Amino acid sequence: MDSEQLREYGHRMVDFIADYYKTIESFPVLSQVQPGYLHNLLPDSAPDHPETVEQVLDDVKTKILPGVTHWQSPNFFAYYPSNSSVAGFLGEMLSAGVGIVGFSWVTSPAATELEMIVLDWLAKLLNLPEHFLSKGNGGGVIQGSASEAILVVMIAARDKVLRSAGKNSLGKLVVYSSDQTHSALQKACQIAGIHPENCRVLKADTSTNFALRPELLQEAVSLDLEAGLIPFFLCGNVGTTSSAAVDPLAALGKIAKSNEIWFHVDAAYAGSACICPEYRQYIDGVETADSFNMNAHKWFLTNFDCSLLWVKDQHALTEALSTNPEFLKNKASQANLVVDYKDWQIPLGRRFRSLKLWMVLRLYGAEALKNYIRNHIKLAKDLEQLVSQDPNFEVITPRIFSLVCFRIVPTDNDEKKCNSRNLELLEAVNSSGKLFISHTALSGKIVLRCAIGAPLTEEKHVKETWKVIQEKVSYLLRK
Ligand code: PLP
Repeated sequence: MDSEQLREYGHRMVDFIADYYKTIESFPVLSQVQPGYLHNLLPDSAPDHPETVEQVLDDVKTKILPGVTHWQSPNFFAYYPSNSSVAGFLGEMLSAGVGIVGFSWVTSPAATELEMIVLDWLAKLLNLPEHFLSKGNGGGVIQGSASEAILVVMIAARDKVLRSAGKNSLGKLVVYSSDQTHSALQKACQIAGIHPENCRVLKADTSTNFALRPELLQEAVSLDLEAGLIPFFLCGNVGTTSSAAVDPLAALGKIAKSNEIWFHVDAAYAGSACICPEYRQYIDGVETADSFNMNAHKWFLTNFDCSLLWVKDQHALTEALSTNPEFLKNKASQANLVVDYKDWQIPLGRRFRSLKLWMVLRLYGAEALKNYIRNHIKLAKDLEQLVSQDPNFEVITPRIFSLVCFRIVPTDNDEKKCNSRNLELLEAVNSSGKLFISHTALSGKIVLRCAIGAPLTEEKHVKETWKVIQEKVSYLLRK
């Protein structure tokens, strides 16, 4: 590492990125390239001799950026947001700069200890129950994604049950969720060896914004017990991917507890909002959960990746995921004096990700973070009102956070035609390059999703977005 070269190129790179942000609105939000476009633009093999940073940055401008979908654009409203911020960026830089790999405490004590501290800070901001704090049996850990979080807790829950029921019982283990739960749960079941027939995907209640009904869960658990199966894992949602539905955590948790089922709460997107006292109610009942997850990289100004997982019993995780090879042995670990996060996750190596979350928490402060969330929710509320005032559209589910779900209203009760019309509208607005929204299906209806949460989004962007959607729909309806 040549420090002077780093200084020179680093400054140039920061300038390049700062200019990118300055001009971000000039790019089509959704990349408009065709599959395979880059093969035609780049050589077939790596260069034999060094090239200059200028040459590379030129290629970034002319060849890479056209193939980028601009998630940080203020006109990005698809999926759920994936926030980047100056604070998060500085934390990422610092993490790359110190370049440590903090799998065990000894490999960089600050990495483990800072992670424990910032996860405790955030647990307190969310008013999570004491048992999720690091001072007792519980604690928090940064995973790469909500999918990894679900997988590790499912493995922990599986092994906990199999220790008492016997290894041969794997085929009897049953998982419960609503049909609105993210596909990450299905993937976790596949990896954890859960029999596909033992995944109970319960129909969400269409009259309550697609939440899971506790009676359905109770019924399914009772039937499985009668059949000699072993209910072992329940995934509840706070902010489903399709419509931001919130499951009744307290009632679900009660059923889980009385049947010794591990209760995981997936609040990947909406968890961030729960730092605001007025939104904390949506995680009421979290005290009944065994684990809780929110993605700081979604709506908490922390650059990807930074998925926060808290568990009530860290030993369930470490008993399932620990290894102790000779080449990693060290005094602190052997004496059980420290947390070794390698035993809380799938990979061995891990980055110093807590730095960026620490930077975000310190450079913004809790009050600014709350106001950041509130502002997006207000913009979503305004958009919801605009949609509901337009006779061509209907709001499909009541908005709670910053996601607005809507569609063009059907004519002649023709749902099929309505679905294709909404898909046509989606294609028309996204190919305009002016904005990017995404879609889902709810009870067979194609629904358009506008998730407000990009850090640069302001009122004018939301208004302009709505104008573009209205223009496109008038054109479509005239056709
Ligand atoms: N859970 C919910 C509710 C989500 O919305 C998403 C992604 O949007 C996920 C889980 C998966 O997140 P990740 O990409 O971090 O695995």
